[in-house]
Amino acid sequence: PSVHVQGAKASIWVEFTALAVECQAVNLGQGFPDNPAPTFATNHLKEIASHPEATAFHQYTRGFGHPRLVNALGRLYSRFLGLKVDPINDVLVTTGAYLALYYSFLGWLNEGDEVIVLEPAYDSYLPQIKMGGGVPVPVVMELAEGATGSEDYKLDLAKIESKITSKTKMLVLNNPNNPTGKLFTREELEGIAELVKKHDLIVVADEVYEWHVYPGHEMIRFASLPGMYERTITIGSAGKAFSVTGWKSGWAIAPAELLAPLKTIHQNCIFTQVTPVQEAIARGFEAELDLIEAGKTSESYLLHGLPSQLEALRDKLVASCRSAGLKPIVPQAGYFLIADFSSFDGPFKTDPSPDPLDFRFVRWLCREKKLASIPPSAFYSEGHKAGNDHLVRLCFFKKEETLDAADRILQQFA
Ligand code: PMP
Ligand code: GLN
Repeated sequence: PSVHVQGAKASIWVEFTALAVECQAVNLGQGFPDNPAPTFATNHLKEIASHPEATAFHQYTRGFGHPRLVNALGRLYSRFLGLKVDPINDVLVTTGAYLALYYSFLGWLNEGDEVIVLEPAYDSYLPQIKMGGGVPVPVVMELAEGATGSEDYKLDLAKIESKITSKTKMLVLNNPNNPTGKLFTREELEGIAELVKKHDLIVVADEVYEWHVYPGHEMIRFASLPGMYERTITIGSAGKAFSVTGWKSGWAIAPAELLAPLKTIHQNCIFTQVTPVQEAIARGFEAELDLIEAGKTSESYLLHGLPSQLEALRDKLVASCRSAGLKPIVPQAGYFLIADFSSFDGPFKTDPSPDPLDFRFVRWLCREKKLASIPPSAFYSEGHKAGNDHLVRLCFFKKEETLDAADRILQQFA
């Protein structure tokens, strides 16, 4: 194998998704909703499928993004970034946010270029940066003593700056953060903005959970800060926006010059993302925008339906965790919850595996108690796993009955 992949292990999704299926466990592991997909979204696909004669729906579409979708995304992000996003030049539609992220690293990093990654960080960033020839430079957001909420993951700007060298090219910001649900404040984002301006860095802003922000909190998109659009690649995902993760459609939004290297890779790798799915997503966003522009936000899925549905599910899982003695870090955003399992006892503690404690706990919980979850130490680089292996990540975007089944398992520990 190439040097870029030598020694790589199976990702947590490969191991723990298979384990959940093998154990027929109640699955709060991999992040996907197990409720029916929203029919307003699936009805678009149904309608599109009923027109086999329409070549515009079923044949190759424009490479950098289906015209109707880039127009809808241009309209959407112009509104939410508060500036003009040119749909033809500033939008690239890819196969999931995964690929938009990978293109960003491949397109901009030269061998040895350094990338600041705020940890805990989505587990694909490090391998993707390395596959792109870059060097990840992790900076941990420490969890404050006695933490109860995701805002207790502290951003340390001085620590970030101390890691910036002449080789630093880029910073990856995941807001809202997976796995913690941390939503960055304006003050934190302005601090990052000052640093990236001072050191002339590109920002990859993975904002796939931009619509999963709980009432009372504000989503501030990094590219909306003064002067930041010029240096930011904003990444989004339709799988997240419309709760259809299997639709695997994502995008990168950035000024044409910043997007150009990503387009070069895209045109030679997949050339174009699946057409009917892009058509359906375009219709979904158009309908959302019509509501939002008419001031009917209470009818909007993205601004109201989705966050209020999730808030109730979050509160349900928080209550289950608390009564079972799992200390939850209540998320401000996203659909995951981090909880401290230090008070739990079991054979996982004496398991001879060299893996971090949370990996052993999660395997035991899945095999013996039939509850699937994700070990958060996977979101830390090698040197930072120790001390961050007493937590578990649980996904709460699930049917009430799934959360009830999880509750019955958790209460065995109460
Ligand atoms: N970034 C983060 C933070 C994620 O949680 C995910 C999860 N899917 C992705 C990117 C990838 O999104 P997609 O499914 O659109 O590829
Ligand atoms: N992003 C989702 C999660 O964090 C799933 C990712 C995947 O399946 N690779 O759970």
